[in-house]
This record gives sequence, C-alpha cells and structure tokens, in this order.
Amino acid sequence: MDDVQNLGLAPHRSMCTDCGVSRSSNPKQCSTACQFIQPNYAELEQRVHGRVRNTDKEDELHFGPFINMHRASLKKPSTGAQWSGITTRIAEKLLQNKLVDAVLTVVADPTDKWRPLPILIDKPQDMQMARGMRMGYAPLLSLLEPAKALGYKRLAVIGIPCQIYALRAMEESLGFDKLYVIGTPCSDNTTTENFHKFLKLISPEPENVTYLEFKANYHVELRYADGRKKEIPFLQLPLSDLPRDFFPLTCRTCVDYTNVLSDITIGYMAGEGEQWIITRNQTGQELLEQLGTEVDLKQPGSAGKRHSAVVGFKKNVELSAGGLPLRKMPNWLRPIMGWLMPRVGPRGLEFARTRVEMKAIESILHLRREMPQRVKYLIPKHIWLLAKPYDLRPQDNESDTHLKR
Ligand SMILES: Cc1cc2nc3c(=O)[nH]c(=O)nc-3n(C[C@H](O)[C@H](O)[C@H](O)COP(=O)(O)OP(=O)(O)OC[C@H]3O[C@@H](n4cnc5c(N)ncnc54)[C@H](O)[C@@H]3O)c2cc1C
Ligand code: SF4
Ligand code: SF4
Repeated sequence: MDDVQNLGLAPHRSMCTDCGVSRSSNPKQCSTACQFIQPNYAELEQRVHGRVRNTDKEDELHFGPFINMHRASLKKPSTGAQWSGITTRIAEKLLQNKLVDAVLTVVADPTDKWRPLPILIDKPQDMQMARGMRMGYAPLLSLLEPAKALGYKRLAVIGIPCQIYALRAMEESLGFDKLYVIGTPCSDNTTTENFHKFLKLISPEPENVTYLEFKANYHVELRYADGRKKEIPFLQLPLSDLPRDFFPLTCRTCVDYTNVLSDITIGYMAGEGEQWIITRNQTGQELLEQLGTEVDLKQPGSAGKRHSAVVGFKKNVELSAGGLPLRKMPNWLRPIMGWLMPRVGPRGLEFARTRVEMKAIESILHLRREMPQRVKYLIPKHIWLLAKPYDLRPQDNESDTHLKR
C-alpha cells in the first residue's frame, strides 16, 4: 500500500474538480485532458469502446455504450461497502488473481472520515479500506506518476466520471501495459467542507453519521456509529435552505452521470434496492467475470413514466437558475409525496433515465446562466438530444456543430 503524501500543488481554475492532473509534473495536460475545458466524448468513446454510443437506442443515448446491464448484488455483501461491495471486490480479485500490480483508488483521510484520500493498493486484503463512499474531490490521478515510478505496469483505477475522463484522455501517453477502469456514477458532489454543513442540517448528531446514500426509493439513508438507521424522504430534505454555491458549477454542469468511459460502471440507480452494473466492453466483461458465482445477476426492471417528473424538475431549475427561490412544497404535502413517489414514480431503468435527463437539463440551464460562452464546448450533442423532449434546443452560438467532432 502506497499512501503518497506529497500530492503537489492544488489547482487554480474555477471549473476544476482537482482530479490530480494539475498536480502532475506536466500540469499543462489539463488543457487536453479536462472534462471542463474542451471535452470530446465521441472521440474517447470510439477509442475506448471501439464505437460511439448508438443514440437511436434509448438506453445507449442515456447511459452510453454498453454490451449488457444487470441488477446485481454480492451474495455475501462486504462489511463497510457502500452497497454490496461489488466495486472493491472486483479490484480485490484482480489483485488476488495477479492481473494487476496495484489498484488506484481512494480511502478515508485519517483526519476526516468523509474526505477522500488517493492511494495505491497492492495487497488484496487492503482493498477493504477503500469500501464506502466519501464526499468531496480527490486528486486521484496525481498518483499515476508515482505508480509508474514504483514499477507498476498493470493498473486498475476506480474513479468517478471527471477523473475517468481525464484518465482516458491521457491513457495513450501513460504507457501502462494494461489498464482496467472501474467507474461509479456520480452526481451532486461538493467539497468535503460543504458536505459537513449539509450533514449538520439533516442530522442533530452529524459527527456520528457513518453512512449516507441518496437511494432509488427517493429517500436518503443515514447510518450511525451505534448501528441506528434513518431514512429521510428526498422531499423533506432542506435543499432550498442550502446556499446557491453549495454545489460547485462543475457538478451542476457535469454531463457524464454514468461514467461512460469506464470499462464497467457500478452504481445503484436502476437497481431497485440492489446495484446496477453497466458492462461496456470486453474488458468490462472480464472484470465482471472476476466475481464468478459470488454475484447474483438479474435483468434490470423498469416501471412508471418519467416525463412529468422531469418537467417538474425543469421548472424548479429554471426558477433557481433564474435567481428566484426554489418553489417550495407545503410542509403538509411532503410526507404524502415522500410515501407516494417510491410507489408510483419511475423505478428501475426508468428511474435511471429520469435522473440522467434531469442532469442534462440542469447542466444546460446552469451553464447558460453562469458561463454562456462555454455551452458550445461543454454540452455535447447527445445531451441536447436528451433535453429535446423538454423544449430545450441549442440557441445561436450554443451548438458545437462548427467544432470538428
Ligand atoms: C460523490 C459520489 C456520488 C455518487 N452518486 C451516485 C449516483 O447518483 N447514482 C449512482 O448510481 N451511484 C452514485 N455513486 C456511486 C455509489 O455511491 C457507489 O459507490 C457504487 O454504487 C458502488 O457501490 P459498492 O458497494 O460496489 O462500492 P464499494 O465496494 O463500497 O466501493 C466504493 C468505491 O468508491 C470509491 N470512492 C468513494 N468515494 C469516492 C470519491 N469521493 N471519489 C472517488 N472515489 C470514491 C472508493 O474508494 C471505493 O473504491 C456516487 C459515488 C460518489 C463518490
Ligand atoms: S484536468 Fe483535472 S486538475 Fe486539470 S483542470 Fe480539469 S479537473 Fe482540474
Ligand atoms: S458530479 Fe461530475 S464533476 Fe462533480 S465530482 Fe461527480 S463526476 Fe466530478
């Protein structure tokens, strides 16, 4: 296990999630590697998966290229994992089976259990330290050069979409013999400092919260150090009490919810209480096969209709992005809606499509308002296709068609 202490200088750009590239020996690589400067999803999809997403196929338009999708759980869930622990178990098996020399991922910072700290793990038993979700940004890719210096030639990387985008953009120049990329979806991330403020708002004892998850049943689950669990309906969260800049513009305008450049994406959105695996290419299939009979795999289900939920979301974003306060639901209605939504709202794949469309709309509206000149660079064609049913189309100077991609 190599916990490299000196992570280099922190970045200075405003649109930056500190993925680690700016802390490398060549920070100028940010200009070509960054998701927030001049991304080219189509070119990278082609390079990584051998083809671009088929936008005529609904689920590829929403989730990116894939060869299969599953609803899944480890038969024996891993203690301390965010869900059943599929992500860290695959990486552990890669180390056990000597398919990689090390795994690049994050663990909890020893001074703050919610702060992600990048690490290189080379012993299978150490993968347990990485289990669970932290909130905030980790300069994960700052450990690529140390990995090379340590002589690692075959590497697995576990990362969130903005980290994986930069990794793929630099992949050819990195010169590893083999790279396995295990991605998780990501949305609504913020700084670890902001996350602590959020915990204080939703729990009278934030210091005892050990687990938090926004679940597909429209509830946030909290777990406490003494084993207690609590579920709060989304609609009862004090989201409209948060300051406007609580979520940085990067995370409000991030267009890669499902980590399309990973070999395998492991999330929960279409899992209906279990995990959701998107296997994107043959390397992803090889990763899934590491689990053998340890994993229970099923076809994902789908129910409900997303259109009206997305329309309502768009209205709210228009009001908040326009500087007006968020529409507030009367307090008496919140528990009723909190009960109703898991029963009649979109579920399974339809829930995942709902969230991806909401994110597409949020990205366009927030970028239009705060950095209109960047829309044509940061909003790719498939995001406009997702937003089209909601009357959002590129205006003058917003289309990227003049760019060569
Ligand atoms: C900020 C954030 C937001 C997310 N939002 C969604 C979402 O909206 N929808 C969805 O389906 N899934 C989301 N996920 C992924 C989800 O929380 C689970 O991580 C995923 O389902 C895998 O579960 P698991 O039990 O297999 O993970 P585990 O086996 O517990 O492994 C989790 C892995 O994630 C890594 N990790 C934890 N925190 C971070 C971090 N801050 N940055 C980088 N890597 C990290 C760990 O190091 C570990 O390798 C999000 C993850 C993060 C970090
Ligand atoms: S590549 Fe990474 S470090 Fe560089 S600007 Fe983008 S997010 Fe920041
Ligand atoms: S929401 Fe997007 S930009 Fe923000 S941390 Fe997650 S992947 Fe990165």
